[in-house]
Amino acid sequence: METANLRNIAIIAHVDHGKTTLVDAMLKQSGTFRANQQVMERVMDSNDLERERGITILSKNTSVHWRGTKINIVDTPGHADFGGEVERVLKMVNGVLLIVDAFEGPMPQTRFVLRKALELKLTPIVVVNKIDRADARPEEVVDEVLDLFIELGADEDQLDFPVIYASARQGSTGTAPDRIEPTLEPLFNMIMAHIPAPQVDLEAPVQLLVTTLDYDDYVGKIVVGRIVRGAIHQGEQVTLIKRDETYEKAKIGKVYVFEGLQRVDVPVAAAGEIVALTGLTTANIGETVACALNPEALPTIEVDEPTLSMNFIVNDSPFAGLEGEFVTSRKLRERLFKEVETNVSLQVEETDSADSFKVSGRGELHLSILIENMRREGYELQVSKPEVIYRTINGEKCEPIEFLIADVPENSVGAVMELLGRRKAEMVNMITLSPTQVRLEFKVPARGLIGFRNEFLTETRGEGMMSHVFHGYEPYKGEISGRNRGALIAFENGEATTYGLYQAQERGRIFIEPGIKVYEGMIVGENSREQDIEVNVAKKKHVTNMRSSTADEALRLEKAVVFTLEQALEFIEEDELVEITPKSIRLRKKFLD
Ligand code: GDP
Repeated sequence: METANLRNIAIIAHVDHGKTTLVDAMLKQSGTFRANQQVMERVMDSNDLERERGITILSKNTSVHWRGTKINIVDTPGHADFGGEVERVLKMVNGVLLIVDAFEGPMPQTRFVLRKALELKLTPIVVVNKIDRADARPEEVVDEVLDLFIELGADEDQLDFPVIYASARQGSTGTAPDRIEPTLEPLFNMIMAHIPAPQVDLEAPVQLLVTTLDYDDYVGKIVVGRIVRGAIHQGEQVTLIKRDETYEKAKIGKVYVFEGLQRVDVPVAAAGEIVALTGLTTANIGETVACALNPEALPTIEVDEPTLSMNFIVNDSPFAGLEGEFVTSRKLRERLFKEVETNVSLQVEETDSADSFKVSGRGELHLSILIENMRREGYELQVSKPEVIYRTINGEKCEPIEFLIADVPENSVGAVMELLGRRKAEMVNMITLSPTQVRLEFKVPARGLIGFRNEFLTETRGEGMMSHVFHGYEPYKGEISGRNRGALIAFENGEATTYGLYQAQERGRIFIEPGIKVYEGMIVGENSREQDIEVNVAKKKHVTNMRSSTADEALRLEKAVVFTLEQALEFIEEDELVEITPKSIRLRKKFLD
């Protein structure tokens, strides 16, 4: 039967395209809040890290009521690095809203999620937002979305996607750019008309697929998923069907549904609803919560295997504890094992040393996000050089391959292709986006992408945009050679303020972020050629006093070497560690006395 008064939708949006503003407006206009009640918290607001990365990292749920129908809205994580989470989240819903900025158009970061949504035959409603912008170009943006759908293999029905033009900021929407009404009514009507209600069997024995995990210090582990059939009662005995099909008895604690920005506990929830459950302390992603007497498993969803690992080590440097919280091995262990509770594709293993843990994840992005979160929480730690995880398939050594999309200015196409060629990439596609912009698509070994972003930005003078997703395992592509490392370390009033990293191939060009002034610089690197750097950097007229030096000398000055995490991961050698504190990221020799 159909739960006619319920809709489950997912939102796909590039960071800053207006998801939060739109959801806020939906909450306000749907009367989910009484007129005098303020929207206190912006539930879908992205954190700093999400903004910097241009992707949603945490999935969040909210809901609104529209004329007697409840609309559950789930956020989609923006990246394949989150181990199948995108797919699981999309399996909870019957439709998606794709929010696209009326000027910027669709961005590569949303591509992966969109492809998954199309594969799952979801009906996308395209919301062209910020229609009030003076530079809005709504018709072109819709054409770009159409092209993207075609490229991603959408079927005929999906190419006929409904479009809503919106100014989330003004709370207005319309079915054409020149027919904007001062209300979201057109949007709500479209959701009702185009997104089907969940089809469910309310009488059957209960089933729920564990989709995401959350953790709360008061109630412990929280399991989120959609009830596929039957109903779930508070305090009920259930069977938890593990991924290996073994059964475990369990007891539901509370049953929560999402109401506006809150989780509200209810005595019972029925099929179709998205719920949060407590009490299931041993539950994991992809498992089925089933009836105690009549347990039947739902098809489980694959969780992607880790492809990259690093050691996370207690900071034993002479500066430990000066710039953050000194972290003992017990604390580090606790933090990492707590992360594993909710971060599905992450694995943590003990090592021979009590101070060191091997952490494996879905790629550099996945691990970087954990490191940066810990850093922002005040932790100090060290990490080792990232290593990709090889696998033997049919007797052959195979390595993880990423699918890389790079949008670059036309005049740096050759250089980017050359850089990637060196990193063993294979070009699979080249699309002209405009007379000045070209999109390049590659298959590239995951190890070839470690630290590539910096090199890419240098080569495209900060104008390139890149994103990558896991592609699969393929036979080992051979050694990546011919890369020399080098760095420009810049000082301001005797303090290091910034630096650029460069690959000293034939040229050593350095990308210096706009707005940063460099007064004095030092080049380090095995083969650094002073004149190359001077030509490229000094031209900007804010670098003086260049001198060249060796990497060893730079390491002796380690206090002064400031990196971004990606740069450090590129620069790091076997015998070094990256020291991470809330204030800085730097390299140091292992076992420094
Ligand atoms: P999110 O990252 O997708 O959640 O984006 P936000 O909702 O936080 O919006 C990002 C920025 O775009 C904010 O500064 C908003 O005020 C602005 N914004 C959102 N919607 C609109 C709109 O309809 N018109 C204009 N001009 N700006 C908007």
